[in-house]
Amino acid sequence: MSSAIPTRADLAALPAYVPGRTVPGAIKLASNEVPGGPLPSVAEAIAHATAQVNRYPDMGSQALTERLAKELELPVERIAVGCGSVSLCQQLVQGMCEPGEEVLFAWRSFEAYPIVTQVGNAKAVRVPLDASQTHDLDAMAAAITPKTRVVFVCNPNNPTGTAVRRDALVRFLDQVPSDVLVVLDEAYREFVTDRDVPDGLEFVRTRPNVTVLRTFSKAYGLAGLRVGYAVGPEEVITALRKVYVAFSVNTLAQTAAIASLDAKDELLARCADVVRERARVRDELLAAGYDVPETHANFVWLPLGERAVEFAQHALEHKVVVRPFAGDGVRVTISTPEENDVFLDAARSFTR
Ligand code: PMP
Repeated sequence: MSSAIPTRADLAALPAYVPGRTVPGAIKLASNEVPGGPLPSVAEAIAHATAQVNRYPDMGSQALTERLAKELELPVERIAVGCGSVSLCQQLVQGMCEPGEEVLFAWRSFEAYPIVTQVGNAKAVRVPLDASQTHDLDAMAAAITPKTRVVFVCNPNNPTGTAVRRDALVRFLDQVPSDVLVVLDEAYREFVTDRDVPDGLEFVRTRPNVTVLRTFSKAYGLAGLRVGYAVGPEEVITALRKVYVAFSVNTLAQTAAIASLDAKDELLARCADVVRERARVRDELLAAGYDVPETHANFVWLPLGERAVEFAQHALEHKVVVRPFAGDGVRVTISTPEENDVFLDAARSFTR
């Protein structure tokens, strides 16, 4: 049945968000999830909260916001909880940009940036990564125009795993006009071990045009529940709350996030296991002759160019799902030693 209802013409050209595939019987290393399921204490809190699902959730995620405020030693007015940090990316564009204003980001970076920009009726401006697959912050500063409202800096960068260092970020922030918001998307912050890669919260505390995004999906293992948060200036947080889809952070997500903060040490210890495996996987890939940029996240990037899709197909034949970006590279999530070994065997047997 065809319908005469008009929809936005520009949506025909909207790039699709391609989720990592789940293939029965295959190991999924495609979505940067952590391998372990919820801790017993978190599972118990979720089970307990199911008794209340006949009621709407706390609309403002008040208890979670207060808990985060205490952890971060910042006022609640500077924190907004969202339905995953991808939702907060969209809310930032909707809350900051008039139609046609510009959102600047590196490319390649998180695939949601161009999507949320277009959905928000803003204009995407992409600045290529440098030869080492890292943000070219000088080029990004040079690309700022009077129409730029938001700059996303994904640190560490998805999908390349590279990170910008403190000196480069400070030099960049010093060049950004005070009416342009710099969003430090730190979805993978908990996997960073290099002391020269700064914690964005340092800048949130000292600069009035910086916002940090964090998520419970990665290190905290709650990807299926959808909860993240933004920390920024009060004015930005107020705008994020205005464009929030009512009740979109559900009761189970709020409860699980609080229970995960209670179990923070245990969860961060799991990240340390991933970090150890990350070094091993990268070393083995380098030994096998792959080019693998230094990574600060829970994944590695193989810049295979035109052979990216073929590599992913080869991995699938070995029962491993990875994430190809056609013509560019392949992103592979770090998992348990056993799963990583299956991937490494697949990588070694790829004819190059
Ligand atoms: N930012 C980055 C850089 C990401 O890689 C992701 C997830 N792939 C997100 C934000 C969104 O995470 P979530 O919505 O699950 O919090």
